Amino acid sequence: MKIHIIGSGPAGMYFAILMKQADSAHEITTYERNGPDDTFGWGVVFSGKTLAALSQADEPSHAEITRDFEAWDNVDVVHRGQKISIHGNSFSGIARLRLLKILQRRCEELGVSVNFHRGIADVDALRLDCDLLIGADGVNSLVRESFKQYFQPDLSSRPNKYIWYGTNQLFHGLTLTFRKTRAGVFAAHSYKFDQTTSTFIVECDPQTWTNAGFTEKSDEETRAYLAAVFAPDLKGHPLLSNNSKWINFVLVKNGRWSFENVALLGDALHTAHFSIGSGTKLAMEDAIALKQCFDETTDVSMALHRFEKVRRPVIEDYQAVAYESMVWFENARQYMHLDPLGLAYSLMTRSKRIDYETLKRRDPAFIAAYESSGIKA
Ligand SMILES: Cc1cc2nc3c(=O)[nH]c(=O)nc-3n(C[C@H](O)[C@H](O)[C@H](O)COP(=O)(O)OP(=O)(O)OC[C@H]3O[C@@H](n4cnc5c(N)ncnc54)[C@H](O)[C@@H]3O)c2cc1C
Repeated sequence: MKIHIIGSGPAGMYFAILMKQADSAHEITTYERNGPDDTFGWGVVFSGKTLAALSQADEPSHAEITRDFEAWDNVDVVHRGQKISIHGNSFSGIARLRLLKILQRRCEELGVSVNFHRGIADVDALRLDCDLLIGADGVNSLVRESFKQYFQPDLSSRPNKYIWYGTNQLFHGLTLTFRKTRAGVFAAHSYKFDQTTSTFIVECDPQTWTNAGFTEKSDEETRAYLAAVFAPDLKGHPLLSNNSKWINFVLVKNGRWSFENVALLGDALHTAHFSIGSGTKLAMEDAIALKQCFDETTDVSMALHRFEKVRRPVIEDYQAVAYESMVWFENARQYMHLDPLGLAYSLMTRSKRIDYETLKRRDPAFIAAYESSGIKA
């Protein structure tokens, strides 16, 4: 089969690896507009369950990915300067760039034709030149846009603003920090992803953003302002920018998942709010699911229909959980009256995926402290 893949993020490269590994006769070419060392962002996280799926799908890349992983089992909630730790939530982090380099090396080792600095402008020309065209071109997908009458995308830009920084202050565990200022409430999502660096995402509602005057602030001034807001947490470490800009989260859904020989994967197909840390996981699991459909049939149209049938319910479930989580953060201001234990409980149960019983099983000490405090979240 001749396969073209637009986008060399986790979805595109992982699908290339799995297909080539299944049949070396596949002629697979990836196209990426950026260079091999360019990246946005800092670290990404995976759950234990995702790692088991990656191990089954391709052990060599799994072994590399897990070699230098930073693993933790706690979520820390910081409110009014007090830290509450909730255990039993196992996650691991890795630098996005490191993950991409591992996938890139594995593609090359298997004989995938990997092209960087090759932005695609004419999607249709590429489509006509192959048996299967994959749009793994991220949240602003040109493939989706080019065939929007078929994919019927539903894109909604959410009200909160967020910005993705790094820092050398090490946050052991997923740390959710709330700081109330005169402008409003700022939340930071942070976690260590290697020996020296943590991801540090700051999120706030539009009122807080306007009150803080960010429209008038340069990138440097913004960074300094936010470092001051989180000074007690950063402990003297600056925030590190990677061309970091304020953005609004875009919730992506598609009415149809494929069109003739074209399929979307990863963020091009769906997004889930970053507060549940699952974008990369979903992108790579999409690749696994689509490859499994091609194990069952070589008929492209049948495989793509099967992919939608098996994968859509899984994605819709994740998006439902992520939606609740996103809305909680959009309304964070209204939870600030809770004391630290009450806020931690409200946060942990925000998406209804984790309830009282789950928390009691995972961390009985936390539930005992919560109950003895006599608060109802
Ligand atoms: C603030 C923030 C925090 C996040 N935190 C996490 C986290 O903790 N854990 C997690 O798992 N995920 C996280 N994510 C999500 C994660 O980054 C994405 O969900 C994931 O990268 C999706 O993979 P992808 O391959 O679908 O798309 P991408 O990684 O976006 O890759 C798409 C690629 O396509 C390329 N491209 C686009 N158009 C073209 C074109 N026309 N021609 C050629 N190439 C093109 C782009 O350059 C890009 O390299 C976060 C995202 C954000 C914004």
